[in-house]
Parts: sequence; C-alpha cells; structure tokens
Amino acid sequence: MTSTTTVETPRDGTRDDGPLLLVDRVAIGYQRQGRHVPAVADATFEVWPGEKIMLLGPSGSGKSTILKAIGGFLRPTAGRIVVRGRDTPEPGPDRAFVFQEFDQLFPWRTVLGNVSYPLRVIGADRARARRQAVEFLELMGLKDVLDSYPHQLSGGMKQRVAIARALAVDPLMLLMDEPFGALDAQTRGRLQRELVQIVARTRVTLLFVTHSIDEAVLLGDRVVVLGGRPSQVKEIVDVSGLDGPDAPGFADARHRLRALLAEDGEDLHGAVFE
Ligand code: ADP
Ligand code: MG
Repeated sequence: MTSTTTVETPRDGTRDDGPLLLVDRVAIGYQRQGRHVPAVADATFEVWPGEKIMLLGPSGSGKSTILKAIGGFLRPTAGRIVVRGRDTPEPGPDRAFVFQEFDQLFPWRTVLGNVSYPLRVIGADRARARRQAVEFLELMGLKDVLDSYPHQLSGGMKQRVAIARALAVDPLMLLMDEPFGALDAQTRGRLQRELVQIVARTRVTLLFVTHSIDEAVLLGDRVVVLGGRPSQVKEIVDVSGLDGPDAPGFADARHRLRALLAEDGEDLHGAVFE
C-alpha cells in the first residue's frame, strides 16, 4: 500500500497504523435480578486518529453502554474492543471521559485543583501540573475562575472545566456522553462551537454520544446510528464538512438520520430529538 493522503495528518501516527479504536461485533448486557439482559446486540465501527465520531440513537439504545465499554468500565459479552492494537483495555488516561452531569467535578477542589489533580496522579510534578492545567483552562476561557469552587460556577462553566480536565492529560481519545444535554440551548450552542475549536487545536480524537440529530451533524465527521432493542449499528453516515445549517448536504444528512431514527418508531416531534 502506498502512503495515503486521504486523511489530515493525525496527531498519533498515520492512517497506515490502523484505526485508533476498533469496536468489532460487540455485544454487551447487564445482570438484572440474576438474569442477563442484553443491551447492545451487535456494534461494529472503527475510529481513525483525529476523527470526530458521533454515537446517535434514542434513549436506551446503548450509547452510554458502548462508551463505558470503550472506557474499559464494562466488559463486552461478545466481540472485541481494541484500542491502538490492545485488546480489551483497562481504564486509563488515554481515554478521558466527560459526562452530562454537572457534579463530575471534585466539589472540595478549586477549578485549578480539579484540572491539575489528574496530572499529579499520572506523575507530573507540581509546577508542570499547574502550568498545564492553566494552559487548558485558558483555552476554555476560564482564566478568571481558577480559584473558584464548582458550586460557584454555572452549568456551562462546570462543563468547560470538565473538558479542560479531560484534555489536560493529553488523551488519545476524548469520550463525551451527552456533555451538553443538560444545558440551555444558547449555552449548548456556544459550547459546541468551543469544542470544535479545541478539538481542532489539540487534534484529539473525539467520540461523542448524543441523541440530537443536529448536534451529531454539526460536530461529527461520521455518525454511528444505533437502534433496536437490544441495539445494533443501523448505519454509519458521513457528515464531514457539514458545520452549519447552510452547508450543502446538511439538510440531506439530517433527513437521512431522521429516517433512520424513525424506523425505531421514535416520536421525532417529542422532546427526545431536536
Ligand atoms: P443510552 O445511553 O443510549 O440511553 P444505555 O446504554 O444507558 O442507553 O442503556 C441501554 C440499555 O441498558 C437500557 O435498556 C438500560 O435500561 C440498560 N442499562 C443501562 N445501564 C444499566 C445497568 N447499570 N443495569 C441494568 N441495565 C442497564
Ligand atoms: Mg446514555
């Protein structure tokens, strides 16, 4: 195979090194009252370095389950999860998590303390941890609240701190589970734009869970659509370059995703999909 120019220079390796993440015919279930209940029946997709992959599906379609398995917190009952050639990896700082909940920060630590703490845990000395934490907090526009405590911040600011904390450890992959789902529409829009910028800047690979079609199209390069119970990957839709409602192809991608989700009989006019 000759060298390829189809993908922009990824931060870690080239396309020839293979996918950063391989989710290969994965099934995952839970124990409920002594019984095994399948949640995900069959999920297969790849994530290449530098890509922005969205996991889209209705509530209960196993999005969080898949993300947790990629994080190493849940073991698949069938199939493989391979991160950079390593099968079924343990949790580690190469896959940083940001959740929907505003309470994911340490309430007894300042903003600066929240971001520098994981850096200390992975071995940075005090000065370096501080320097790196400040750098990422500045990138997220939080320079003025370094010494504030989480309870003094708005929801949007807390999520910014969580993003800074996740990126400061220089992860291979940023795993985000509906991080903007509990924000008001205006704040959500602002954070979406900030995320696009910081992902471009750090070239981190993004795996982002959402149930919003618009969010998936705006933020993603490709959208992995989940549906059914237990769920399967229904289709993987290319949405690269569709960074605004005026982009050619935006409406088509939106319609395609709507159609795929409608197959599950979801109420597209309800609160579940914007
Ligand atoms: P999503 O994130 O797409 O809303 P989840 O991954 O949270 O979906 O859940 C998928 C399915 O697995 C649902 O039917 C849910 O009830 C079930 N489930 C999720 N977490 C647990 C758990 N800890 N114990 C038992 N069942 C669970
Ligand atoms: Mg979820």
